[in-house]
Amino acid sequence: MASRIDLEAQYCAQNYKPLPVVLTRAEGVHVWDEDGNKYLDMMSAYSAVSHGHANPRLVRLVQEQVAQLNIVSRAFYTDRLGPFLERICQLTGQDMALPMNTGAEAVETAIKAARKWAYTVKGVATDQAEIIACTGNFHGRTIAIVAMSDEPQYQAGFGPFPPGFRLVEYGNIDALREAITDNTAAFLVEPIQGEGGIIVPPDGYLKAAAELCRERNVLLIADEIQTGLGRTGKLLACEHDDVHPDGLILGKALGGGILPVSMFLARRDVMEVFTPGDHGSTFGGNPLAAAVGLEALNILVEDNLAQRSADLGTYLLEQLREIDTPLIRELRGRGLFVGIEIDPSLASARQVCEALMKRGLLSKETHETVVRLAPPLVIDQAEIDWAVQQIREVLQEIDRVRLAS
Ligand SMILES: *Cc1c(COP(=O)(O)O)cnc(C)c1O
Repeated sequence: MASRIDLEAQYCAQNYKPLPVVLTRAEGVHVWDEDGNKYLDMMSAYSAVSHGHANPRLVRLVQEQVAQLNIVSRAFYTDRLGPFLERICQLTGQDMALPMNTGAEAVETAIKAARKWAYTVKGVATDQAEIIACTGNFHGRTIAIVAMSDEPQYQAGFGPFPPGFRLVEYGNIDALREAITDNTAAFLVEPIQGEGGIIVPPDGYLKAAAELCRERNVLLIADEIQTGLGRTGKLLACEHDDVHPDGLILGKALGGGILPVSMFLARRDVMEVFTPGDHGSTFGGNPLAAAVGLEALNILVEDNLAQRSADLGTYLLEQLREIDTPLIRELRGRGLFVGIEIDPSLASARQVCEALMKRGLLSKETHETVVRLAPPLVIDQAEIDWAVQQIREVLQEIDRVRLAS
């Protein structure tokens, strides 16, 4: 019988290069492969599994809801959508929400909202609206979204791209000030760049950007698909800077590690640009997803997962700082959202991840140099101690081999 890896090699588009491990089961912070080996998941599906795998409350809720009502489309009201959106609006201080499924769809929704707001509220001339994004951004993979990317591979071979996007250097407030024109609809920004390599902008950047946007009547739209919902030690990463964005994009952990659930949230005058027929999604806001999303929010609040992320993230960074190795060039992050920058002249991040996998710790490199650590927020201190021990031993082993050769 062909191995599962061979089957994917033959039948699955090769748009990923997975680590060579075949997972069959998961619970909490752990996953198991087909040979029964156990791994600590320090990746949690790019933050989608913040609640832990197969969170018991969510599993129970899904079992009940799945027998009750699942997919009906937005052609009808359901008993589940309103309470979910009410809760997320109250938690985030936003007025209204538009539910979608994947992160990219929610970003597309934000782009549409910003453009239509620019034409109908701000008074920008037809088809002249501009959206400013940042160098090093990651907002998803649709054609419009990769039009905003400065990562050559995300664009190569996929053009032509829609116009109306402009890039400014991430973290540089002067660059943003110079880029804003009367046609600028929105500034789209990740409070911490995740796929970019866990890049934390300079202190005060987000706050200054928010003030600038307010002065120039530009919407500040925070893409918190990865940083949101407790990942960085606050419910929203924007809260670290005391910033309340005009538009907010959530995804990943909103689905409780069970379903794709995303949304765009905004002020009423922004969201009101949408009228029936303007925009939609067959699955967006379905009752199963809404039930899961509401329970995911309840768990986040009742189990204090944001505070847990703050405390354990601080602890994780402290422990990593104790590792004595020339391989680490920089450690950075906030909450349980940590990047280890590996000195590329000494090792690659991929090599570190492969060695960690052999010891039962799953992570994933981002770019060639960064090992990302973003475990489920339900991880405990003993599990972090174990992870740090594996990282220490792997880095020291790679260094020993390097010096011996
Ligand atoms: C993952 C991610 C997206 C895209 O989400 P998908 O569900 O993969 O479409 C967008 N923005 C940020 C910041 C992300 O981390």
